[in-house]
Amino acid sequence: MIDAEARKPDIPHMDDQASGDTTPPSMTTPAPSIDVRGLTKSYGSVRAVDGIDFSVAPGETAALLGANGAGKTTTISMLIGLLIPDSGSITVLGEDMGRHRYRVLGRINLSSPYVDLPRRLTVEENLKVFGRLYGIGDIPGRIDELAQELDLGPLLRRPSGALSSGQRSRMALAKALINRPEVLFLDEPTASLDPDTADRIRTYLTEYKTQENATIFLASHNMTEVERMCSKVMIMKAGRIVRSGTPQELIAHFGRTTLEEVFLDIARDRSAP
Ligand code: ATP
Repeated sequence: MIDAEARKPDIPHMDDQASGDTTPPSMTTPAPSIDVRGLTKSYGSVRAVDGIDFSVAPGETAALLGANGAGKTTTISMLIGLLIPDSGSITVLGEDMGRHRYRVLGRINLSSPYVDLPRRLTVEENLKVFGRLYGIGDIPGRIDELAQELDLGPLLRRPSGALSSGQRSRMALAKALINRPEVLFLDEPTASLDPDTADRIRTYLTEYKTQENATIFLASHNMTEVERMCSKVMIMKAGRIVRSGTPQELIAHFGRTTLEEVFLDIARDRSAP
């Protein structure tokens, strides 16, 4: 097994206790927001996720990276309860997703450009539907807030099917934030956003995380975004996590200057010097 976390990586891990600290871990380390053990999922003969272990601390932004087909979307789908794992366990906000996912679903949310919301409904109508589903008290107030924060005001009365892909990404993000999730899952959050909008969204998400002490878990192909937003990076290859650490740790380990170069080294099987 080459899972970097499972085999005690040579790269230091940010969850590690500082050396010399003799305080028991349970007294200093908060329970993880996400804890995954031995997770597997196959589609027929394709082993999409092959026994992964990781945890994400409260308030942390973690990224799952990997080439096309590495298993990222399958992993996120299991984390949010959309797909049932073949084996292993997932604990989110202290609840076992296998047994108690309904205790958690109202406290998490997902934004993905691949989830299509009803196209005939306006942006506002879509957000109202989700506001009701999540049992939000003041739905118009929350929609107003999100419209301001994500610059959606001029789009609220447009059918969602008439939005550009970048505008749809912002609507998806508003939907994902409607319940002020404690854990926010983002599948390529800034795909199709122009550089200016993408930059604003990254800043907004980082502020949201800090203000709400939320945990963000994202899958992205944008290495600059990951370097900027994430304190923990896990790189998947053929269903396994082959490396994990902070962006700086990974860059230093591979003797590179950017995470993109590290990604290419791993994707092309070039070992660290
Ligand atoms: P991408 O970056 O292209 O989105 P990914 O890392 O998200 O890729 P997954 O979508 O999780 O990868 O796919 C992992 C593997 O599982 C791939 O080999 C893929 O072909 C396969 N796979 C995914 N979904 C299905 C499905 N519904 N039926 C059969 N095979 C699937």
